[in-house]
Amino acid sequence: MIGVTLLGATGSIGVSTLDVLARHADRFQAVALTANRDAERLAEQCRQHRPKFAVMADADAAMRLRDLLADMPQRPEILSGVEGLEQVAALPEVDYVMAAIVGAAGLRPTLAAARAGKRVLLANKESLVVAGALLMEAVAESGAELLPIDSEHNAIFQCLPPNFTDGLPKVGVKRILLTASGGPLRDWPIERLSAVTPEQACAHPTWAMGRKISVDSATMMNKGLEVIEACWLFGTDTDHIQVVVHPQSVIHSLVQYEDGSVLAQLGNPDMRTPITHAMAWPERLDSGVAPLDLFAVARLDFQEPDLMRFPCLALAFEAARLGGTAPAVLNAANEIAVAAFLERQIDLPGIAAVVSETLQTLPNESVQGQGLEFLLDVDQRARDCAERLARERAI
Ligand code: NAD
Ligand code: MG
Repeated sequence: MIGVTLLGATGSIGVSTLDVLARHADRFQAVALTANRDAERLAEQCRQHRPKFAVMADADAAMRLRDLLADMPQRPEILSGVEGLEQVAALPEVDYVMAAIVGAAGLRPTLAAARAGKRVLLANKESLVVAGALLMEAVAESGAELLPIDSEHNAIFQCLPPNFTDGLPKVGVKRILLTASGGPLRDWPIERLSAVTPEQACAHPTWAMGRKISVDSATMMNKGLEVIEACWLFGTDTDHIQVVVHPQSVIHSLVQYEDGSVLAQLGNPDMRTPITHAMAWPERLDSGVAPLDLFAVARLDFQEPDLMRFPCLALAFEAARLGGTAPAVLNAANEIAVAAFLERQIDLPGIAAVVSETLQTLPNESVQGQGLEFLLDVDQRARDCAERLARERAI
């Protein structure tokens, strides 16, 4: 049996992962499930999947979970806080850790899993954006496996040869073509973007996801974070990554080779495919996803991204080129700005404005030789700055 810790069990990726676990209960066992504050949902999941551990973000929520599970026979040991998350990410009986917490909050447990040499199933792209060097170093030192869950990166992984870690030029790769749906605002009149509501921004045309990543998709910051994620995962730079808008979300990304070949991975937009791929790799298992019907898809369209409409994408490219602390600052400012937008404190164009001004306000520092504490401090300073800027822009 393969023991699995699922960080962020109650979220969109978490629920899809539990579906895959249940389909293959002969192979995978949930050892630990974690959630932020939704004790009700986690209690239900504990009753169904019988993990040994359950972790809530704080002591209050842990208390509620204890009450909810009081009558459960063999109930899980209930922990709380970041220490609890780090603990269940590194348990000896755990082989795979699904990192599906949203935002920089996922960094510490993801790093703990990498340091403990686990197979890390990485959905939490923000942890690579904030601490790419540190995370990749931890993976290399411990011999952990890092398998991408983000559908684009999982697709790229599938289109690369096994020895891609020798370097993309060595294996004949010319560039990576990272596809993007363009989100729900791809065709909105640009002058009306300031009127977009959180509900409209979260109504993604092809993917059902958590609210933060849904807003990121609407601004295309999500694609920007994914460019940075791809640089770390595949050891490349922004000159070798092209973003391609592909509204149908059927091609999940492509790899272009020196000889003119372009390899792509296709499938219905359902995260259970990349989740199952990474959990079964190098084998293949049933994911429950309907087979792709190309006649129903009928056509595939491609466009260049419009950087005037999507300034967040340009900001992310710039942060990626700058390196140092810029990606961590970009991410923190974006988290604050997206939360402010969801709370209706700022308008949608305000997100890019807050991120841009935060990047201009904080000095870009080198991360060479710096550890986790330094990055967490940068993250906090960027949050403080972005919060102030968001208040100034309040509508
Ligand atoms: P979500 O909001 O649906 O779920 C987030 C999970 O993290 C929940 O279980 C929540 O309880 C937990 N959580 C939130 N804040 C926390 C905190 N401070 N401490 C501890 N736990 C916390 O998000 P999601 O859509 O499942 O996305 C999760 C991650 O996967 C994100 O990094 C996202 O970018 C990435 N991702 C998601 C999708 C998708 O289809 N949903 C696709 C690709 C990548
Ligand atoms: Mg993605």
